[in-house]
Amino acid sequence: MQEIKTDLLVIGAGSGGLSVAAGAVQMGASVVLLEGHKMGGDCLNFGCVPSKALIASGKAAYAQSHASQYGVANVTPDVDYAAAKDHVAGVIAQIEPVDSQERFEGLGVRVIREFGAFVSPKQVKAGDHLITARRVIIATGSSPFVPPIPGLDTVPYETNETIFELREKPAHLLVIGGGPIGMEMAQAHRRMGCEVTVIEGAKVLGQDDPELAQVVIEQFKAEGIAIEEDALASEVRGKAGAIEVEAKDGRVFKGTHLLMAVGRKPNIDGLNLDAAGIETTKRGIKVDASMRTTNRRVYAIGDVAGGLQFTHMAGYHAGLIIRQALLGLPAKERTDHIPWATYTDPEIAHVGLTEEAARKEHGGNLDVVRFPYNHNDRAIAERKTDGLIKVMVVRGRPVGASVAGAQAGELINLWAFILANQLKMKHVANMVAPYPTLGEINKRVAGAYFSPKLFDNPMIKRVVGFIQRWLP
Ligand SMILES: Cc1cc2nc3c(=O)[nH]c(=O)nc-3n(C[C@H](O)[C@H](O)[C@H](O)COP(=O)(O)OP(=O)(O)OC[C@H]3O[C@@H](n4cnc5c(N)ncnc54)[C@H](O)[C@@H]3O)c2cc1C
Repeated sequence: MQEIKTDLLVIGAGSGGLSVAAGAVQMGASVVLLEGHKMGGDCLNFGCVPSKALIASGKAAYAQSHASQYGVANVTPDVDYAAAKDHVAGVIAQIEPVDSQERFEGLGVRVIREFGAFVSPKQVKAGDHLITARRVIIATGSSPFVPPIPGLDTVPYETNETIFELREKPAHLLVIGGGPIGMEMAQAHRRMGCEVTVIEGAKVLGQDDPELAQVVIEQFKAEGIAIEEDALASEVRGKAGAIEVEAKDGRVFKGTHLLMAVGRKPNIDGLNLDAAGIETTKRGIKVDASMRTTNRRVYAIGDVAGGLQFTHMAGYHAGLIIRQALLGLPAKERTDHIPWATYTDPEIAHVGLTEEAARKEHGGNLDVVRFPYNHNDRAIAERKTDGLIKVMVVRGRPVGASVAGAQAGELINLWAFILANQLKMKHVANMVAPYPTLGEINKRVAGAYFSPKLFDNPMIKRVVGFIQRWLP
């Protein structure tokens, strides 16, 4: 057994763990990083990166079959599903070096390619290494949650860990789960020529504002994706190429392939958390506002901490850890400024309070202002007019923003900045946006907030009338 002493031990080399390790070692701490599987974690290998790459394939195919609106003949796309997967693998390969063992060793991190498990409150065993650390950061992420639906164990199915390696194009993909992962994969596959049925126990995109989700649902229906809501899967049967999913109410959906996308479970099995006195909840490792676990030397960040499960959240957590564990400064998690986006087409993006939450919290003090995409000249020029932005405002200060439409994930950046810095609508109104950009939607929604105050105000009219009389 090789004994190692270090300032910081990071368990898991995904979005969160890599950010902590890179920051800490460059600030002078000694860092050991454990990774039992692939460097880069879920985001690079089974999540954000491959999903966005496959979505790009779907978009390319869709553009071919919908070119006539721009005066270019429609073509039925000749999709090579396996080649699309090569493209996905190529994208991962291009990004991979940034997350690689070589790069981190080059920075001075000691990388050990083993799964780690606590043996005591201060010590972790990984292969034949026993590591004693001043601080331990658990960043072990999450895995697909596969519910025990009767029959599922007898039928082949995909998850996000396998679908990006599937090379045989599904003739008819059944997707159980209508959350962001299920919906992104459903549309990408439909656009590449698969029949697709989304089977959702409640409502698809149920975490999103229903008014915005509807924009995406309409597009899905127009593309021929079957959306089956209130369809709780109660039995799965069949064999490879002929799969049936039966819903609780008796509806039966038939397909050739099945993707399970019903949610995530934290990666805590095998960490032997009891040996370190670390408690868990149903969602993951129990942490306080500073991401500290019930063992005060140990922090948990990213998906395993059971909060918002996004790469940028894990990165944000990493910054909190650097402040505390390296600089000894206090740091508390905020979530009111964390945006998220779902990369369907149109996209949905959001930051801060939803309209529903804002109404509950702010009641009569709340203004909700909207601006539709079909009043934006760039959206009209590109025929991407489906969608809207709405901003929730309390006494001039935005408390939330939601966008459904083309590039919503880009448009939300401005609102994430505004909320992070607690700026006001006047700051957005002061901005001059280049014409014609989709970004003007952000400025115009600020205009929609101020217009009634300026144009429907008798006092302003009187003042202007008075000034006009006196002007030379
Ligand atoms: C299909 C899909 C699409 C997604 N798209 C997006 C997106 O577009 N935008 C976005 O922000 N987020 C997206 N996400 C979410 C994002 O991938 C996660 O939020 C992010 O990867 C979490 O980072 P993490 O560091 O917590 O965990 P991970 O990135 O999962 O890393 C955890 C690492 O820990 C390792 N590990 C686990 N246990 C141990 C152990 N005991 N010892 C050593 N190593 C261990 C694992 O092998 C893994 O490499 C997506 C997720 C999926 C599944």
